[in-house]
Amino acid sequence: MNIKGILLIFVLLLFIGCGNKLHQRDDVAKVDKKPNIIIVLADDLGYNDVGFNGSTDIKTPNIDKIANNGVVFTNGYVSYAVCGPSRAGLMTGRCQDRFGFSRNPLFAPKDSTQGLPLSEETLATVLKRGGYRTMAIGKWHLGAHPSQRPLNRGFDEFFGFLSGGHHYFPEKWDLNDISEVKSQYDPYRTKLLKNNDRIEETEYLTDALSREAVSFIESNKEQPFFLYLAYNAPHTPLQATQKYLDRYENIEDTKRRTYAAMVSAMDDGVGRVLNTLEKLNLDRNTIVFFLSDNGGPEPHNASDNGLLREGKGTLYDGGIRVPFAVQWPTVIPKGEKYDRPIISLDIFATAIHYAGVNPKKTLDGINIIPYISSNNEGIPHEFLFWRMFDKKAFAVRNGNMKVTKWDIKSELFNITNDIGEENSLEDAFTLQQLESSYYNWNTKNSNPVFLGLSQNDEYNKAHSNRFAEVEKY
Ligand code: CA
Repeated sequence: MNIKGILLIFVLLLFIGCGNKLHQRDDVAKVDKKPNIIIVLADDLGYNDVGFNGSTDIKTPNIDKIANNGVVFTNGYVSYAVCGPSRAGLMTGRCQDRFGFSRNPLFAPKDSTQGLPLSEETLATVLKRGGYRTMAIGKWHLGAHPSQRPLNRGFDEFFGFLSGGHHYFPEKWDLNDISEVKSQYDPYRTKLLKNNDRIEETEYLTDALSREAVSFIESNKEQPFFLYLAYNAPHTPLQATQKYLDRYENIEDTKRRTYAAMVSAMDDGVGRVLNTLEKLNLDRNTIVFFLSDNGGPEPHNASDNGLLREGKGTLYDGGIRVPFAVQWPTVIPKGEKYDRPIISLDIFATAIHYAGVNPKKTLDGINIIPYISSNNEGIPHEFLFWRMFDKKAFAVRNGNMKVTKWDIKSELFNITNDIGEENSLEDAFTLQQLESSYYNWNTKNSNPVFLGLSQNDEYNKAHSNRFAEVEKY
């Protein structure tokens, strides 16, 4: 090969290797100070149950504002199909299987292993290093042991509850604290926590969470902040106040009507948050993410995943593809849709990039802003992987193709043409290639480090006196 040929190859390699990086510079010049970060997380919200994904019976005008002000991810995924592991992924920017958070944790306030391993850093911890003020509001579900609570995991403030769910009406909060908890689901009835103290709260839960979010923003308008607003709506129990039920007199099915009312309460809360940002002139430099922690458990809470197959608890897209949008008016275009697959793990990497601070661990997500802030033809993730350890199930997404291994066999779908995963393709070669990529990825994962919700009885046998605990530490 002559010198010209070698030079040509060198130049080509340079372009292949740097394609994404060139685009990553596009937006940086426009950002002159650290953006505030807000994550609004819904709980068990169906893919189809927001206006921006086509809901016709449930109105979400405020959540839709995020879509209108920014970008909707039509192929936005979470890293797991139920609450706890999905939140562990979101909060660390790492696939939770890397550190064995592969089950929904049990409520076990004496057990420091039931939650996010202390070796992992949360987004709040990293952002605090970057000078951010941090607050978690709502559902925690990442451990109830003192060492696992939000104030010990990077958050300056906390308002909410530690368990995987909660009653919504204050009159149902009849347990003073965890010393009165006797079973796995009793924490749904405890009084709320404000930092480390139990408080008397009188508002409907969703409204109280929204109020605290507004208050936090107002108190921190002079400095960069990170707000993790984790609504438990519309997770069961299905409970809504008359104010919100009245908006859906047209929905005859009472379950669906109550669910719609709960989504509406959350939507009002998102409206209050967005209005506060605008009022304080913070909206242009605040990145607001909205997503659900997993797909809707359709029959259970009357959610609707639209055309997606199945729902919460499965690795079909109904379990892991969620309503997902982001706004950041300074940088992101308005009212666009982005169709390439992205994942909740990307939120961490995106946030710390603009906060100008580095994590201690290797992330599985990437900064997605360069892909949506310009006509970037790059692919954020060539592969996405999911593992459901106890079921020996997994899924792989590679471009338009998806392998879903559920029950005993793997099936290959063209998820773009066949969004409902109905027609399994006869392409043994591609199937085998994607399966191999999964097994290779899985070599770097850990086995589960704690027993989960479905092993409640087994855990109780090994841990008598599991709940007998005083509240103060
Ligand atoms: Ca959930």
